[in-house]
Amino acid sequence: MWVLVTGGAGFIGTHTCIELLENGYNVIVIDNLSNSSKISLDRVRKITGNSIEFFHDDVRDKDALNKIFTNYDVGAVIHFAGLKAVGESVAKPLEYYDNNIGGTINLCQVMDAFNVKNIVFSSSATVYGEPDVVPIKENFPLAVTNPYGRSKLIIEEILHDLHVSDKDWNIALLRYFNPIGAHESGLFGEDPMGTPNNIMPYITQVGIGILDKLKIFGNDYDTIDGTGMRDYIHVVDLAKGHVAAIKAMGSFDDIITVNLGTGSGYTVLELVNAFEVTTGIKIPYEFVERRPGDIARCYADVSLAKELLGWASEKTLNDMCRDSWNWQSKNPNGYE
Ligand code: NAD
Ligand code: UDP
Repeated sequence: MWVLVTGGAGFIGTHTCIELLENGYNVIVIDNLSNSSKISLDRVRKITGNSIEFFHDDVRDKDALNKIFTNYDVGAVIHFAGLKAVGESVAKPLEYYDNNIGGTINLCQVMDAFNVKNIVFSSSATVYGEPDVVPIKENFPLAVTNPYGRSKLIIEEILHDLHVSDKDWNIALLRYFNPIGAHESGLFGEDPMGTPNNIMPYITQVGIGILDKLKIFGNDYDTIDGTGMRDYIHVVDLAKGHVAAIKAMGSFDDIITVNLGTGSGYTVLELVNAFEVTTGIKIPYEFVERRPGDIARCYADVSLAKELLGWASEKTLNDMCRDSWNWQSKNPNGYE
């Protein structure tokens, strides 16, 4: 079966392409390369020995999508394409709504026209806002605080409406917690443009000497050591969750919404410590003010993923640190 992966040249996308190919799927990628490099896909081809069809196009371009759906018998779509920087979304809300929401509507219209009604969508734990309790279950109240999060929530709602209008649509909304780590080959990883916003690429860039020291945002949260707690999940485990969702397409009458996390929370200091112990690299840090919009604790209840998809994460925090460092040390400047 052909699977169309939008945003497939990106961090989670490349890892998912590898898992799809290894599970016997044929893969087509559409990516405008606004936050990625084509080199990642060349490496996917090299490591898997499989071909991958690549279209350097934008999901907002209907002609480009029409061409793909005309030429390939697409069975399902995994929709990663979108912008993902929270701070940037506050500065450029229209760009975020246009890209994320506009792109999704365009994609679904073309899918509908070609009667392809299987879609897996990349949502985020950010839709839970600041939860009253942890672990977070999928039926918790939703609250978003920035345009990025709002774009995810609005897309979830649009996809719900689509399913109400036509029950033939099979839709999986996957809410990711904090993906880190990298493929164990060291050929693929997170390659942020400019100074990283997320913690793991920041840590690895400190480790390699690109950045001086880690700034830890706040040490007065209600957690074991005062630093923020998150559910870090290895990107390869996350990618496997997408294959599980593709395999489960059509097994449910309703749209499904599933957390993809490990179910365990670690603080920033615990993460730094795990990184130092695993790699032997010292990470100097200082405490600075809390980052606006950050929450104290966030980790998933992962029982629904197990029940509906038969999926659970397998890799440990040490695996994530080892593989992130392997990627960074072998590719000090990312893909380029
Ligand atoms: P990424 O930026 O590495 O990948 C996204 C890809 O989409 C990039 O290759 C980019 O060039 C492409 N893209 C963006 N807009 C496009 C468009 N209009 N048309 C075609 N291609 C386009 O990000 P990622 O970390 O791999 O995230 C993938 C998805 O998962 C995103 O939708 C993101 O919001 C979501 N997500 C990510 C995280 C995370 O922490 N990484 C957490 C929760 C959800
Ligand atoms: N964080 C930090 N310094 C950084 C980046 C992040 O202390 O340079 C903290 C942040 O406050 C949060 C955790 O690391 O507690 C994870 O942040 P990230 O941006 O990676 O993911 P988020 O959960 O905010 O989407």
